[in-house]
Amino acid sequence: NTFAEIDLGEALNQNIRRCKYVKPTPVQRNAIPIVLAGRDLMACAQTGSGKTAAFCFPIISGIMREQYVQRSRGPRTVYPLALILSPTRELSCQIHDEARKFSYQTGVKVVVAYGGAPINQQLRELERGVDILVATPGRLVDLLERARVSLQMIRYLALDEADRMLDMGFEPQIRKIVEQMDMPSPGRRQTMLFSATFPKEIQRLASDFLSNYIFLAV
Ligand code: AMP
Repeated sequence: NTFAEIDLGEALNQNIRRCKYVKPTPVQRNAIPIVLAGRDLMACAQTGSGKTAAFCFPIISGIMREQYVQRSRGPRTVYPLALILSPTRELSCQIHDEARKFSYQTGVKVVVAYGGAPINQQLRELERGVDILVATPGRLVDLLERARVSLQMIRYLALDEADRMLDMGFEPQIRKIVEQMDMPSPGRRQTMLFSATFPKEIQRLASDFLSNYIFLAV
């Protein structure tokens, strides 16, 4: 019933204490064990429910544990291990800020890329290496088309506020992005879909992107 009882890895547990998180919120209490157990997840969760930590903790913990040997496949293309898609620049930056706090001294590197801002600074940041990429769909498609990012190594995909991404017309971009992940979920890739509402379009996305998933409503 406290984070101290969940073994997420020494460094992450320490960062959680540093953030003064003691008790998991309901979405965290339910979602974290599901993802740690290797399952795909569709979660109905509102803003303020603590969903950011719910998907960040198992991703950071998993990357720390597996200690992937990767990168340096080419001088320009980077191979993130986790992708967090979110609808807006503001939300992406919030997720990036939180994920960076959680990954402090874990060796896990988090980078953010969003549209409506010059791409060059983001390219330079990516070139320094990335484990977890937080991105808006349009900017990520741009990076893929420039061959600056490859999604072939993605182990974790989180779609945050999926209903809002569809409302904003991002479905074609999202489909294009997921098509580039070579292995089906949850083979090499594990997928988490978070949405405040669960209309037909989200159900279709869930059945296309997730496999044998657990549905969580909190
Ligand atoms: P979110 O729904 O992810 O945007 O989180 C809402 C707010 O709750 C953020 O400011 C978090 O830092 C905070 N928060 C999330 N989980 C916890 C927790 N278990 N204990 C205390 N604060 C939390």
